[in-house]
Formats: sequence, structure tokens, C-alpha cells
Amino acid sequence: MAKVVIENLYKIYSGEKGREVTAVDNANLVIQDREFVVLVGPSGCGKSTTLRMIAGLEDITKGDIFIDDVRVNDVPPKDRDIAMVFQNYALYPHMTVYKNMAFGLELRKFPKAEIDKRVRDAAAILGLTDDMLERKPKALSGGQRQRVAVGRAIVRKPKVFLFDEPLSNLDAKMRVQMRTEISKLHTRLATTMIYVTHDQVEAMTMGDRIVVMKDGVIQQQAAPLEIYNNPANAFVAGFIGSPAMNFLNGTIVEKSGDLYFAEDSAANGALLKLEPEQARKADAYLGRSVIFGIRPEDLQDRLYVANSDPGHTFSVTVEVIEPMGAETYLYLTTGAHSLISRSQVQLKVEVNSTIELVANIKRAHLFDAARKSDFAKPNGELDTDKWHAACPLIF
Ligand code: ADP
Ligand code: MG
Repeated sequence: MAKVVIENLYKIYSGEKGREVTAVDNANLVIQDREFVVLVGPSGCGKSTTLRMIAGLEDITKGDIFIDDVRVNDVPPKDRDIAMVFQNYALYPHMTVYKNMAFGLELRKFPKAEIDKRVRDAAAILGLTDDMLERKPKALSGGQRQRVAVGRAIVRKPKVFLFDEPLSNLDAKMRVQMRTEISKLHTRLATTMIYVTHDQVEAMTMGDRIVVMKDGVIQQQAAPLEIYNNPANAFVAGFIGSPAMNFLNGTIVEKSGDLYFAEDSAANGALLKLEPEQARKADAYLGRSVIFGIRPEDLQDRLYVANSDPGHTFSVTVEVIEPMGAETYLYLTTGAHSLISRSQVQLKVEVNSTIELVANIKRAHLFDAARKSDFAKPNGELDTDKWHAACPLIF
């Protein structure tokens, strides 16, 4: 059993010139026994700080952490029964791989035979050969070193595993391989795991549940597809999914009894008719600034769509074509906004041509646009991520 509960958790660092940094801002989180939870968000959003407070490596400014209903705020790290794997592996360079994995158990005065069994079991799970066990870490590849770091955590049989961006130093191919290995490991060990990453693909593919953070604040926590399909605000919508969701700024207008999204544009912007259910939710926003969101796969070239509805069609200019083989990405512009469409057809289009795009309106989202002037960076430019985090989902 290992349930981790975080209640009203804050971490406030006293930064330079007495300026305080709220790294974690009133976080509340219940991580169930055996759950694989991924904390994801851009660099500096407070992921590592949250993890380090769970591990006991960082003092808690305010709030509580419970492990299996025991408040651990004042329990030292070594007594929390938690193992943490870091991005930089943190292996001892002068020790063999075997010794690196055995060392923690030796300190805890485990019997030699038990240590040997645990190290060899972990090595087998992770595909580390006997030959590798006798080498020093520098004689291993990055992926193998990361396996040793994971092995060192496994041998302790902890209640909770914490991972802080463990794959960031690996090349793309090794990252994908280790991703599935850690997922398999979770299935095999059936232990609570909390995994931190800035990579939304890792979050989507590995987590039972994803917790999206931004500026120390938890923006949303839900299963991966729930977040993908129903993002809480425009920031989450833009952060989860690749290529990212397209956004058009505009307003809700009425035309002969129907509601439309009208793009802010000098001329001939997109004018998209809302579905009845969407119109019901958008009604309160008539005449107000909104953000229309649509994922790249929900925008298709009209020539390839059977039965397209003129109310869901608009013109764009093709700027770049990326033929990926199985898919084609088109980089497009309405004149006022850039868009990406993602199609499973090998499209025949030309750069600089104008095409008609069909929006799969049922999959579209609308966000209530907060006032932009409240989200300026020090240099006066709009801080789009901050602004988007303040634009909640309407549908
Ligand atoms: P992440 O892991 O999501 O990239 P961190 O948890 O490392 O983010 O940092 C969150 C915020 O706290 C950042 O603004 C960072 O600059 C700040 N921070 C982290 N550690 C310290 C520290 N020791 N002193 C002051 N500020 C810190
Ligand atoms: Mg970090």
C-alpha cells in the first residue's frame, strides 16, 4: 500500500533582492496506491519542487503531505520508504554497476545473500547482463546507465518511486524504448509511481493520470484522453497534443437565429456555425471575445472530405507542406492566424495556393478569452501561456 496525499501544498523560495518565488501554489493531489501519475508542465512550473517535497529533500513552506495516511512533513527522507531516479542518473563513478545497486542496501545492513538476490533480480528485469554488472558506469551507454539508476531504486523495494525527467538525457530512440520499459516496470512491480516530465508525449503515453502544472498551479488532473478531449483551459489545450491545438481569436455572433464563431480578421475571416449543443453553451458569450480551438486532425482539405458543410468551411493559404509518409502536415494561414492541419492522406497541394479547409466542428472547443492586457510580460508583449491559462473551457 502506498497512497500519497498532498494537501494545500506551498513552496515559497526567497529569491534575489527579497523577491519571493511561489514554486508550488496550493497544490492538492491524491495519488492512489499503484497509480502511475505524471506531473507535466513547462520548465520552471514547480514539478521538481513538488517531487522533492514528497521525497523530503525540500522543506514544505505550508500544507501537508501524507503517505499512507501518515503525515510525513517532518519525516526525514531515509525514513519515507521512497526511491527517486534523477535525470543525471547520479551514479557513483568509482563503483561497479553491481556496487552502485547494492550500496544503498549495504548501508542499511541487509544480509549479503539478500542484497545479491535483489541486485540480480533487478538486473534481470532491466536486461543488465552479468558482464555489465562488473563494469564502471562510464563503460555503459546512456540508456544502460539510466537502467542502473532505475535498478538502484528497484532493489530497495520502496513504497513509492519518484522519477524526475529520467529520460531527458537520452537520444530520441532510447527515450521511446525506455518509456515503454518504465511502463512495463510499473505493471510488473505494481507500485505507486510519480513521474515528472516536460514532455507531453511521455505524459500522454505513460500516465494513468496526468497532472498539468503551470506557474506552480495545478491546471488540470485527469486521465490522458480526458485531458486531450476536455482540456480545462486554453493553456492545457495547447500544451497537451502535438502538433498543438490551433487557436483562432474571435467573437460569437448571431446570424438568422444561429450562432457562429467569427474570427478576428481584416477581411473574410473564418465564420463557423456552431452545433446546437455548442450554441446553447456559447449563448452567454454572444458578442464577447472567445478563443476557438481545433486540433490539427480536425481540419481537413475540403477536396478530401465527403459531405462537407459550407458552414464549417473556410479559406486558407498553404505556407509549408510536410509530407511525413503516413501523414501530411500543412502549415496554413487565414491571414490573421497560423494553423496546422494533419491529414492521413498524401495530399496533392502546392505552397502559396489557397485551399478550403473543413473544420470537424463537433470536435472544436471554445474558451472564454480573458483580457489580454492583464497578461503582459515585462517588455509589454502578451504572455500567451499565462493568458491561455486564464481562458477556461466553454465547450
Ligand atoms: P520544474 O521542475 O517544473 O522545471 P522547479 O520545481 O525546478 O521547476 O522550479 C520551480 C520554480 O522555483 C522556478 O521558478 C525556479 O526558478 C524556482 N526555484 C527552484 N529551486 C529554487 C531555489 N533553490 N531557490 C529559488 N528558487 C528556486
Ligand atoms: Mg525540474
